[in-house]
Amino acid sequence: MIGLYIHIPFCRHKCRYCDFPSYGGVESYIPAYTEALCREISTSPREGLAVDTIYFGGGTPSLLKIPQIASILQAVTQHFAVDSHAEITLEGNPDSLGREYLKSLHELGINRLSIGVQSFQPQLLRSLGRIHSSRQAVEAVENAAWAGFDNLSADLMYGLPGQTVQMAADDLSQLLRLPLCHASVYSLILEPGTCLYHDVTAGMVSLPPDDQVEKMASVVHQVFKRYGFDHYEISSYARPGRRSRHNVKYWTYVPYLGFGVSAHSFDGHVRSAHISNIPQYIRYAGRQSVLAESVVIDVNRAQEDYCFLALRMRDGIEYDDFARRFGVPMESVFGKVVDKLVKQGLLERKEGGCRLTSLGLAYGNYVFSQFIR
Ligand code: SF4
Repeated sequence: MIGLYIHIPFCRHKCRYCDFPSYGGVESYIPAYTEALCREISTSPREGLAVDTIYFGGGTPSLLKIPQIASILQAVTQHFAVDSHAEITLEGNPDSLGREYLKSLHELGINRLSIGVQSFQPQLLRSLGRIHSSRQAVEAVENAAWAGFDNLSADLMYGLPGQTVQMAADDLSQLLRLPLCHASVYSLILEPGTCLYHDVTAGMVSLPPDDQVEKMASVVHQVFKRYGFDHYEISSYARPGRRSRHNVKYWTYVPYLGFGVSAHSFDGHVRSAHISNIPQYIRYAGRQSVLAESVVIDVNRAQEDYCFLALRMRDGIEYDDFARRFGVPMESVFGKVVDKLVKQGLLERKEGGCRLTSLGLAYGNYVFSQFIR
């Protein structure tokens, strides 16, 4: 079964570090955008496919009103075969997750929430340009549990301007007091073009040194382990049975279908991306193509993608699965690369495959680059 991704590109305010396809201050487009999304879904050439995960990502999907989310879900259920146990996730920010709203979301069938907490410390939230308080973050998670959500995830960041290892540890202990069963914890990546990038390169803001960020990463791994979370992907931690079923599809090379501006799709052979311009999308969706690009993945690229996506997961690469998909033994294609990375201590062999070591986790991008021919 495939996963559906629905992109909601609206935010109240653009965060200082964010280079996601999201726009602040254009919420007036939301009604027309919702209609355009429904048109695109209703006219999809992939109509009728079986779906077992739906993910409303953003942006800030919790800026949509309940009837708007209901109309999108209705379009999906009318045009796709949605499994009765589908995981249906909605991303939200703490300033837009009040009790009544959450209760209505839950009644609508949204059964998983991913909440953008990022930090509990006011000065760090300010440095990121987040517009919510730490109190709102705590209340959002507690309200969600009150509303009936038992599959709650939160995003947290480290390596933030002015952050110390102790501050990162304090954020973690606050996070783990909340009724969460999943967390995505990211090291800040300074993206060119963002306000934060400008401030750091202009010397107005400084980030913690690399050795401190590495210590923060190590504290993150240790603390989640102590609390019984499964570190199942580079940045993802889950209580048993609570992995993000939708995100696991991305890492295990399962097809997914995206709707909305900048949404990406993968059908097993072709990767494609939608246009990013909201007014254009509103005009075209359901009437003419909204594709910005489409790339046929040849077998070499498919093998490379498969390996570095699988290595993001702590389960790593299963050689049998590789051979089944590509008709050749993994060792015959990447044997030398694996040998080299094992010698460097970045990969370890496991029964029937290989995976990142703890050291490899810290050098993931280098490891992945070695699989590109
Ligand atoms: S809320 Fe999320 S998507 Fe929106 S600007 Fe901030 S980081 Fe970007």
